[in-house]
Amino acid sequence: MTTVLDHWISGADYAGESSRTAPVYDPARGIVQKEVRLGSVADVDAAVAAARAAFPAWADASLAKRQGVLFNFRELLNARRGELAEILTAEHGKVLSDAGGEIARGLEVVEFACGITHLLKGDYSENVSTGVDVYTLTQPLGVVGIISPFNFPAMVPLWFFPLAIAAGNTVVLKPSEKDPSAANWMAALMKEAGLPDGVLNVVHGDKEAVDALLEHDDVASISFVGSTPIAQYIYETASKHGKRVQALGGAKNHMLVLPDADLDLVADSAVNAGFGSAGERCMAISVVLAVDSIADELVAKISERMATLKTGDGRRSCDMGPLITEAHRDKVAGYIDVAAADGATVVVDGRDGEFDGEADGFWLGPTLIDNVPTSSTVYTDEIFGPVLSIVRVSGYEEGLNIINTGTYGNGTAIFTNDGGAARRFQREVEVGMIGVNVPIPVPVAYHSFGGWKASLFGDAKAYGPHGLRFFTREKAVTSRWLDPSHGGLNLGFPEHD
Ligand code: NAD
Repeated sequence: MTTVLDHWISGADYAGESSRTAPVYDPARGIVQKEVRLGSVADVDAAVAAARAAFPAWADASLAKRQGVLFNFRELLNARRGELAEILTAEHGKVLSDAGGEIARGLEVVEFACGITHLLKGDYSENVSTGVDVYTLTQPLGVVGIISPFNFPAMVPLWFFPLAIAAGNTVVLKPSEKDPSAANWMAALMKEAGLPDGVLNVVHGDKEAVDALLEHDDVASISFVGSTPIAQYIYETASKHGKRVQALGGAKNHMLVLPDADLDLVADSAVNAGFGSAGERCMAISVVLAVDSIADELVAKISERMATLKTGDGRRSCDMGPLITEAHRDKVAGYIDVAAADGATVVVDGRDGEFDGEADGFWLGPTLIDNVPTSSTVYTDEIFGPVLSIVRVSGYEEGLNIINTGTYGNGTAIFTNDGGAARRFQREVEVGMIGVNVPIPVPVAYHSFGGWKASLFGDAKAYGPHGLRFFTREKAVTSRWLDPSHGGLNLGFPEHD
């Protein structure tokens, strides 16, 4: 009998009332390994009610108590990261070492949240007027909703819930239904770390559950990560229902390679950033903008490296795993035919590869396409698979213009040994996260993560200082303790003396 993954509400498995389920695949074997419940409006109501009931006591818990839970969670997660990595590989398909990297980057945010005692210190101005002080209080929002994508089933929830909880909020997390088990595993670990029941709840589902969260009167904010059309929908719908929203969307990330760059470093970086996690990363490099004079040499170096990559089951020692579903694999592979039809050159066709895994796995090998016209959907669409495009440019200006006229603005990188060119690029490029000789510039946890344009709706990035601001609201208190100098009646607007 197929196992069914329940929701996690008030610190326990919760079957709920919906009878709908979705399959969870093992993408390296091409089989359904379990089903996940798809929550109804009533199931979301139950999760929100649990979070709401837990909120007053949790918001009142001392900073020391909240910090203690996070420190415990950090220790447990660090000690048992191997277990979580196996879950990620089994449901997402990414290779075990990459799953470990995902957890490491999530742990960074937990460690940032462990500093909540320092982060929540307010401002204090003494004697702004004679005998009057002004100071700020930073308080939680209430019940916060988090909706996450399939490609980082541990890291993206970790971008949000540790900080939200450290700040005194209670949480309803709706993870991707494609690889949902990591969320339950982490919620159970938070309980083991001492988190009171109801502070972190997981409700599984699809649009029905998401809409219920977006419209729920008792949900104060929504943090979303996923594709751009859904991010925009989330932003508009949740805003209309009076919520604070941060909605991170899709991407098409360019690497601009100038002629003076170290081409071996560039080739290594392009391969790592293009094919890691089978290209299913929002910070993957999907387009290399190569200046004409070095383009042939660079394509040769990238192809050489691609020939050494092993694609297969992430539990074996492979470099790259399968894609998340058969339908997604077919869609990504379809772009190879589009490329040929649009006049591009297919240098390496990933459909021809050999795969170290079951025949039914959702395989597609690393694919390289040169001379991609910017009018082709191979260039304009977010493919989200192991397909790396080369667009040849005459120089810096043309490369910059291509990036800045694009739809997305998540990440980008410049490869050069010219500091002046790099400095100009970081000032002129219209993208939220920039690498200088660094291909996947995901900021560390004490900075914030987020793009520009269609890659982020709202004005708050994830984690770091933005994350803290997003999950709190501030009060400014103006206070005077009476002394004999109080000024008596005065109907004018207060001035300082
Ligand atoms: P997705 O947009 O399909 O799904 C994301 C979440 O939204 C899931 O929880 C899903 O259940 C829910 N959802 C899907 N369709 C919905 C609908 N019609 N109404 C309401 N909710 C819906 O994204 P995905 O395929 O899971 O993830 C890949 C996408 O996420 C890519 O576009 C990638 O670039 C993006 N992403 C962005 C970032 C970032 O930081 N900008 C990070 C990771 C992933």
